[in-house]
Amino acid sequence: MANQAGPVCRLCRREGQKLFLKGEKCTSNCTFEKRNALLPGQHGLARRRKVSDYGLQLRAKQRARRLYGVLETQFRHYFERAERSTGVTGTVLLQLLERRLDNVVYRLGLAASRREARQLVVHRHFAVNGRTVNIPSFQLRADDVVSVRDGSRKIVPIANASELRQGRPLPEWLSLGEDGLSGAIVRFPERGEMDAFIDEQLIVEYYSR
Ligand code: SF4
Repeated sequence: MANQAGPVCRLCRREGQKLFLKGEKCTSNCTFEKRNALLPGQHGLARRRKVSDYGLQLRAKQRARRLYGVLETQFRHYFERAERSTGVTGTVLLQLLERRLDNVVYRLGLAASRREARQLVVHRHFAVNGRTVNIPSFQLRADDVVSVRDGSRKIVPIANASELRQGRPLPEWLSLGEDGLSGAIVRFPERGEMDAFIDEQLIVEYYSR
């Protein structure tokens, strides 16, 4: 189960964007805001300069990859899969990322961040259609139901899920169960329901060079 290592706030500063990688800390104690969004490192300010087309494409790809916590090889596989599909490549790419089990757990408000969701999935706290799944990249389909396993209902942060959900609206492509500890995929997300700051066209250009 590979994951992006190292200090995560650095990634936000590198991308010039709050990526909300640390859950609640991102709203109460954000380094990105304190350091005024400088690039990481001693010479962060001095290193700001005009960016080439390639640089813009690379940053767009890295931003999306880091937001979803996906390593380079896997991200490329997602792109290749999107390219083979009959849909719009950029939109399908984002849908593949959104339909990851760890992302859906995060979107359902059952984890404070995608990182935390990933860890909870790996530790076997979730089931898909009644069967335990411990693969964060597991691709969910329409009508799939994600639920917290019976023995995991009391663990933090799952027990605090209703607090986690405050201020985080549930996307319309998901529905939450009455117990607040399960959710279903109503349909695939539309472009307007996914993060607006990701420029998928630049990502397509990056891989089409
Ligand atoms: Fe990014 Fe969160 Fe760190 Fe702020 S606190 S820099 S949003 S990971």
